[in-house]
Amino acid sequence: MAASVALALVLGLSFLASAQAPAITVLSREGRKPLPVTSINSQDYVAVDDINTVFATTSREDRLAGGLTITARGRSIVLTENQNVVSVAGRLVTLPAPPLRRDSRWLVPADFLSRALSPALDLRLDLRRAARLLVVGDLRVPRVVARIDAGATNVAVTFEITPNTETRVTSQQGRLIVQFDADALDLSIPLVPPQAFLTGIAPGDSPSTVAIALGPRYALHRVTTSQADAASGRLTIELLASTTDAIPVPAPSTAPDTRLVIPTQGPSTGLRTVVIDPGHGGDELGTQGAKGTLEKEITLAVARRLRTLIESRLGLKVFLTRDDDRTMSLDERSAFANSRRADVFLSIHANYAVRPALKGAEVYYLTVERADEEARRKAGDNSASLPALGGGNRAIELILWETAQARYLEQSASLAGFVEQALRPRIEMSPRAVQQAPFRVLVGANMPAALVEIGYLSNAEQEAQLTTAAYQEQVAQSLLDALIKFREFLEH
Ligand SMILES: [Zn+2]
Repeated sequence: MAASVALALVLGLSFLASAQAPAITVLSREGRKPLPVTSINSQDYVAVDDINTVFATTSREDRLAGGLTITARGRSIVLTENQNVVSVAGRLVTLPAPPLRRDSRWLVPADFLSRALSPALDLRLDLRRAARLLVVGDLRVPRVVARIDAGATNVAVTFEITPNTETRVTSQQGRLIVQFDADALDLSIPLVPPQAFLTGIAPGDSPSTVAIALGPRYALHRVTTSQADAASGRLTIELLASTTDAIPVPAPSTAPDTRLVIPTQGPSTGLRTVVIDPGHGGDELGTQGAKGTLEKEITLAVARRLRTLIESRLGLKVFLTRDDDRTMSLDERSAFANSRRADVFLSIHANYAVRPALKGAEVYYLTVERADEEARRKAGDNSASLPALGGGNRAIELILWETAQARYLEQSASLAGFVEQALRPRIEMSPRAVQQAPFRVLVGANMPAALVEIGYLSNAEQEAQLTTAAYQEQVAQSLLDALIKFREFLEH
């Protein structure tokens, strides 16, 4: 900026660098109209002739006075050449640069639209500079900024939406369509190089939609919404290769976070304390069925039924990671189980797939993938002295939080097997009933742990089943049976 001003001064303002710039799109109830823009010394200018065409205003030049009068709804805007103060119905308004007269056309800075024309027309004119939009009147045009975070086994597409706006995500022939409850979008999309999960993001077929073109690795997606701050909302669409709750396990860090280092408790030898983890909650809805059934509600209902059964039949201590509708991070959930010194951790979820035919329950335990070897190595060789109660020091073995589950993989595999065997006679199982997956919520669990997807909310029949007390009770009974089997297994 400073350089161009200096140059203009040197040349006595006689030479002004100008160039054609992308037009501003005028968005109104009547539709979209382009307003051509000329860039002069890095300032966007629009021609008064074009303003007259778009806004039905008129103008009259007074060559003698070097001025121009624009009439808008009977109000006058008076411009003077090379003066950046204009009069709007007798009130003075400052522009960031003066009006210019070039080749017998009058040009005004783009800010003229919101600062001078808007009060003259008594009409809201909201200039969105970055998006080159002029929003007319009360149109709802939220600012939507898209971001892509690629992981090893998933990709998250996040939209920050200001002001917060309702959204709906639907699948349609290889694309996910995000529909915003708006008239148009002030959209900012990063350039996406084609990749395994998605091949592009672009404005959709209607002005209030965005289309995500899906890639070959995409199998299903998970949608979460949350409040980003007081004014903005956030929509995250995770594109996944396999199950809805698979989230990549980070490689063990070289500089362990000491808050996440936990004392080991050694392999379980008995079953005294059970932690049940109802998936999702609060802002994090989990998946959602077509009839509106929310995963977070189903998981809590089943967890409560299971707690009642365990307490009454087995007399064990049972803790739920959440016993109400609250948001809780995955790491907090396993930390909760560790702090209760649980002997077993069961995370309960409901599944979602794009293909509505998919149904049946699935049981998972952790796969550590390429972090496996490192995790097993680290799981064994950390020790430290900690101050003990009553004074002195006590040598204890420490393990990294993120490798906690690695030492229980064999017991967890047995647990998952017992859960599958108990569920099978009672409810429909998926063809792939027991699987290993990189579930974040299991990573830090310092005890045998498994995750159960108790059915598909994307399947209409299963959505109806999942809401019934009978189905929920069958699931809870099965999990109780599995825990009884697992207790016998630990004791022998
Ligand atoms: Zn889930």
